[in-house]
Amino acid sequence: MQETEVQLKTQTSKFLSQPFKLLIGGKWVESASGQTFPVFNPATGHTIAHVASGDSEDINRAVKAARSAFDSGPWSKLTVSERGRLIWKLADLLETHLEELAELESLDNGKPISVARVADVPLAVDLLRYMAGWATKIEGNTIPLSVPYTPDTQYFAYTVREPVGVVGQIIPWNFPLLMAAWKLGPALATGCTVVLKPAEQTPLSSLRLGELLCEAGFPDGVVNIVTGYGETAGAPLAAHPDVDKVAFTGSTEVGKLIVKAAAGNLKKVTLELGGKSPNIVFKDADLETAIAGAANSIFFNHGQCCAAGSRLYVEQAIFDQVVEGVAQKAKNIKVGPGLNPDTEMGPLVSDEQLDRVCGYLQSGFSEGAKAAVGGQRIESQGYFVEPTVLVNTKQTMKVVQEEIFGPVVTAMPFQQVDELIPFANDSVYGLAAGIWTNNLSKAHSLASKLRAGTVWINCYNVFDAALPFGGYKQSGWGREMGHDALELYTEVKAVCIQL
Ligand code: NAP
Ligand code: MG
Repeated sequence: MQETEVQLKTQTSKFLSQPFKLLIGGKWVESASGQTFPVFNPATGHTIAHVASGDSEDINRAVKAARSAFDSGPWSKLTVSERGRLIWKLADLLETHLEELAELESLDNGKPISVARVADVPLAVDLLRYMAGWATKIEGNTIPLSVPYTPDTQYFAYTVREPVGVVGQIIPWNFPLLMAAWKLGPALATGCTVVLKPAEQTPLSSLRLGELLCEAGFPDGVVNIVTGYGETAGAPLAAHPDVDKVAFTGSTEVGKLIVKAAAGNLKKVTLELGGKSPNIVFKDADLETAIAGAANSIFFNHGQCCAAGSRLYVEQAIFDQVVEGVAQKAKNIKVGPGLNPDTEMGPLVSDEQLDRVCGYLQSGFSEGAKAAVGGQRIESQGYFVEPTVLVNTKQTMKVVQEEIFGPVVTAMPFQQVDELIPFANDSVYGLAAGIWTNNLSKAHSLASKLRAGTVWINCYNVFDAALPFGGYKQSGWGREMGHDALELYTEVKAVCIQL
């Protein structure tokens, strides 16, 4: 592993040297308690910044600002076209600052800068542009009614889609900027206002995004950003009686707490949670593509993807060949600090995640799994773990059932597609699935039987602003991206008039 220190760009050093504050009502303010917490570089474990630790008092202030921007501020009076233009302008600003944002993301999260440059930042830009276009296209219907009580009574009825109101958005650390964009895009396009709480591990790109939101000219209070811990800032946001909707991405465990917290005022809830996605390779697949795809499906973003292809099912006849191929890919991955331009896999995001992933590896080994490759922590100051392929695994093992959220895939052989389907669906999750075959009818037939929100065929991890993403079962409620996401940020009003 290479461990060279990388010189930060002047802009990033300057940005990091400031005392970070909260964005509330268009102003950068200190947290009510005056408390801060440290942010670490996962490649070294060193502290890179201190950010304000928001708590319930700050959440109250932020919700108040969002409420007044929604109820009476200039935001509600903007035309939909003006709203769309602001979102587009934000996208332009992100694009202008692509290099700086990629560097910040890599430093804070640990991901390779080469990936942040071509995935995180451009996908955020794309999503914002896609949603900017929708701002002018949120339409209702006219509805023919069948209830004239007397022959001469006539009604005219139509529906309007109105913004749901003030939205609390709680996001994770795996794609910090992109998750902020996925959440903000549809909220802003539909005319909602937002209180955003980034993950404690990765608040920096959201804070830079806050500066760019101000620069784009969003009215005060439309987007408020409160950094803080889940328990002290996230929980009061999810429970707040004046918040109309909470949108959450993160663990299924916390997702359930969000649902409970939201019950107080029955606010709307959307959840994008964990996954344990099956990735299925048939012997009639193009094996070179399938092996590369299987490796990418689990090792992309160090396996810290809710959609990661973490359960690999391979047709018996080609099992050894595929496992060997994926193991070879794993061996060739250049692991190192994200900011090193050659790095292909960085550290895990935190020491907590490192312990969690290593704990799963130990659990797998103690239950009889063997590592075809990897299986160990990489000794270093940072939170590095080897890309790992586990074989000798059984469906009932913890490593097959639970989300590891690290670069660890379990591989198992199967004989017949019919016996495979119950195994593939044997999970509390239902986020994504992959199928590799050159037999089209087999691919479509299997796609229809998998209980998953996304099925990729002969590809994996293809994300597009227009393609809805979300989970069956305990992988979540609702969808992100596409026009499906917009509906979840609106209320439908039916208007009926007697003519
Ligand atoms: P997490 O605890 O679910 O955190 C996600 C977000 O929720 C963070 O902003 C977190 O804040 C906040 N949060 C935590 N407790 C909360 C509460 N009681 N009320 C409201 N908000 C709360 O996830 P994590 O601890 O970072 O990671 C643990 C596991 O979550 C991972 O191993 C993985 O299984 C899953 N995960 C899934 C995704 C995904 O994209 N679906 C992303 C990340 C993690 P703080 O971070 O500030 O505590
Ligand atoms: Mg946490």
